[in-house]
Amino acid sequence: MRSIAVPAILIIFVALLPALTVVSSLPLDAQGIGLLLGWLGTGLLVASLLLMIRNPYWASCFGGLQQMYRWHHGMGVLSFVLLLMHPVLLAGYYVPLGSDIAEEYLSPLNPQLINILGWLALAIITLSMATTFFLHLPYGFWRRLHILLVVAIALGFGHIWAVSGFSVSLAAALLPAVIPVGWRLLRADRSGDTLPYEVSGVNHPAKHITEVNLRPLAKPIPIAPSQFVRAAFFEGSHFQGCGDFHPYTVSHIAKDGGLTLSIKALGDCTRHIQSIEPGVAVRLQGPYGNFLLTRPIAPEIWIAAGIGLTPFLALLRSQPVTQHTDMIYVHRESERVPYEEELQMFATNQALLRFHSLPMTNDLTSLFMRLESIDKLNKKQVYLCGPPPFMAKVTQWLREHDMQRQQIHFEQFDFR
Ligand SMILES: Cc1cc2nc3c(=O)[nH]c(=O)nc-3n(C[C@H](O)[C@H](O)[C@H](O)COP(=O)(O)OP(=O)(O)OC[C@H]3O[C@@H](n4cnc5c(N)ncnc54)[C@H](O)[C@@H]3O)c2cc1C
Repeated sequence: MRSIAVPAILIIFVALLPALTVVSSLPLDAQGIGLLLGWLGTGLLVASLLLMIRNPYWASCFGGLQQMYRWHHGMGVLSFVLLLMHPVLLAGYYVPLGSDIAEEYLSPLNPQLINILGWLALAIITLSMATTFFLHLPYGFWRRLHILLVVAIALGFGHIWAVSGFSVSLAAALLPAVIPVGWRLLRADRSGDTLPYEVSGVNHPAKHITEVNLRPLAKPIPIAPSQFVRAAFFEGSHFQGCGDFHPYTVSHIAKDGGLTLSIKALGDCTRHIQSIEPGVAVRLQGPYGNFLLTRPIAPEIWIAAGIGLTPFLALLRSQPVTQHTDMIYVHRESERVPYEEELQMFATNQALLRFHSLPMTNDLTSLFMRLESIDKLNKKQVYLCGPPPFMAKVTQWLREHDMQRQQIHFEQFDFR
């Protein structure tokens, strides 16, 4: 893994730059602090945009796409708090001077351009925060709302311009904002940065799961087991793809560069993919993720829930385990459990691997009993992959059973 220091310093510098250009000229009172917070909030918001560039190299600098998105969230939240405090502190300055002055400068009802732009920007940022952290909206709808943040930033720039005209500080905030927005609009969201593949075969290891084999039509993606790609499926003779990019962990990497994705029907697009056929054109972006790439040398416990099996499956299909490994596979299927026979076979052939197959229960009692039965549990490294609520419950249980945070590693099948 690359050192995070250089990209982290770069991002923090971008976040602080607009505030640094004005700090010496601000008065040391509520107004000065209020203005400084406004610049800091703007800088952080712009820096958070740089953390949505899905370039595989850039993401790997932060330890993977999901870690980069955590930075994006952290900076977004901090920026939101500072931008909320910006009018509060200004109110603290103006209100004692008279309610009419305060109203003129600050009221959302005041129809001056400065106020309209500032309050609209803040309203959109508030909506975006609420939909990300409190409301669980359908992903596509949430994503469209989240993109509105770019509009909020444009309104914010308009607000700054209306207050003080064009300045060095505004340029310091504006320039870094152009890069990520341009990148997403002109490159990432228009299939730039992607490689062409074709569906070469389709299997159905279980009801609701389709295994899609992909053949590279150009240079194959240099991917390792447990990493994921973003894939968009297009047209076949009887199949019309969803056209947008979704993340999938590869479940097998062939020596000739062919890849296998195991896709569970979890929503509209993945349900539609269940009827995919050979010949369909695919574009892949990646590789992303470092879930099982570099691991401390220690006995391991792998916990996979449902389709969260794919990173472990890819690893087992590529090489035997090198540490004592307890693999626990939690699933909902009562009849044919996907991949169970194959996993059982790996365990039969590898002395270091023990395989446990468990039906999923709502309270996870059987999983916790199985974990308790593992000798020296708190000396092991745990690797988890599954739906976020499942992982939250298991992580809490492990923490209550003497496990340190750094012993628990996870891949979350959700980006929000
Ligand atoms: C790192 C990672 C690896 C994954 N690996 C696999 C895998 O190997 N096999 C598998 O079956 N599924 C995998 N998934 C989940 C898969 O991406 C979603 O099931 C799929 O995108 C759902 O799309 P949908 O339109 O069918 O469903 P929707 O109803 O639109 O979404 C269902 C859920 O999937 C997530 N999702 C939807 N669209 C996207 C998107 N464009 N980007 C990110 N998340 C999205 C959201 O959390 C959403 O709540 C993975 C997800 C992540 C984040």
